[in-house]
Amino acid sequence: MKKISVLGSTGSIGVNTLDVAERNPNQFKIIALAGGNNIEVLADQINRFQPKLVSVLDSKNIDPLKKAIKGTSPEILSGEEGAIAVASVQEVDMVVSAIVGGAGLAPTFAAIQNGKDIALANKETLVIAGEIVLKAAKGKCEIIPVDSEHSAILQALNGESQKRVKKIILTASGGPFRTHTLDQMEEITVSQALKHPNWAMGPKITIDSATMMNKGLEYIEAKWLFGLDTPVEIVVHPQSIIHSMVEFTDTSIMAQLGLPDMRVPIAYALSYPDRLEADLPSLDFTKLARMDFEAPDFEKFPCLKLAFRALETGQTMPAILNAANEIAVQGFLDERIAFKEIPEIIKSTMDNHECQPLNDIKDVLEADRWAREEATKLLAVPH
Ligand code: NDP
Repeated sequence: MKKISVLGSTGSIGVNTLDVAERNPNQFKIIALAGGNNIEVLADQINRFQPKLVSVLDSKNIDPLKKAIKGTSPEILSGEEGAIAVASVQEVDMVVSAIVGGAGLAPTFAAIQNGKDIALANKETLVIAGEIVLKAAKGKCEIIPVDSEHSAILQALNGESQKRVKKIILTASGGPFRTHTLDQMEEITVSQALKHPNWAMGPKITIDSATMMNKGLEYIEAKWLFGLDTPVEIVVHPQSIIHSMVEFTDTSIMAQLGLPDMRVPIAYALSYPDRLEADLPSLDFTKLARMDFEAPDFEKFPCLKLAFRALETGQTMPAILNAANEIAVQGFLDERIAFKEIPEIIKSTMDNHECQPLNDIKDVLEADRWAREEATKLLAVPH
């Protein structure tokens, strides 16, 4: 029986993780949950899974949560300290890291320091602090990706030698604006950007998919997970059936395919290196009319190049990219800026930043703080 803590249990990945756990009650026991502000969903999860420890973002939600729980209440903590406690429960074997954004770093890092295996959905942790996080995890715990692309790459690499890898082919759906003209990109509304063609996800990653920053973040994540020297090519595949591929030195290509359902890579991360018996719909090739592939359009999606630049610059720059992106995405969701201004704000924040070396998590958090402040200032400039 694997004992699990879920960080971000009330979000899209969190809810899917608990669905996988509920379908496999003999394999997984939920020990602790960290939610944000969604008390209704969290109360329902507590009633279903009876965790020992729970945390909420804001302490003022502790009492309303206690009232919504049937039977005895678990211990309830709050804030970042609460999430860190959920990530560090002694008996827990694996922590599912599914808080959105840079806020996921501190609790995920705490889990690593406590030797917990990590099922990593929070790609921002690797983007902003890849080297520090991997160094801390080395010899102590495994970091298993939940992102469908990285799960596909992990599966394609199974049993292969790293020196025989020629390149990783990271697939991208292209998001809802793949076929838009540059002129049409000027007119994008929030509700259009929140409609992803293939995946149902939280709002931040849905906007990241629309700008293709999500693929940029995944490019950085892939480099940290599978080797900084391994070439990574991005290929747009609108149907999201091939979740990514690896080409080997003999030009053979291994791909992982399946319907776009996050419960599949979540189940793989929870059961790795084994597989679960999942009662989920199978891909029917006779109903799959076609599979298309094309190169990404870097002019229409400048966030991709910004992510490449951040990784190449290194040091604090990926943390700057990530924090500026979070502020710009929120600014767009709040209708303070236009869609096309998201990359402009990120670029200006990066241009205004003086890179510093990263020695520890404190340096990452300081860069994150600086970039949020800078990007917030830029957001306030009349457009
Ligand atoms: P959601 O927005 O659906 O969920 C985010 C979760 O984090 C919620 O539980 C939310 O709580 C909680 N949360 C938000 N802010 C904080 C904070 N400051 N401190 C503590 N908890 C917080 O996001 P997703 O589930 O879509 O994404 C989560 C992560 O997984 C992201 O890093 C994303 O990139 C990654 N990912 C997501 C995929 C998907 O299919 N959704 C696919 C691959 C990766 P509440 O809602 O209660 O306020």
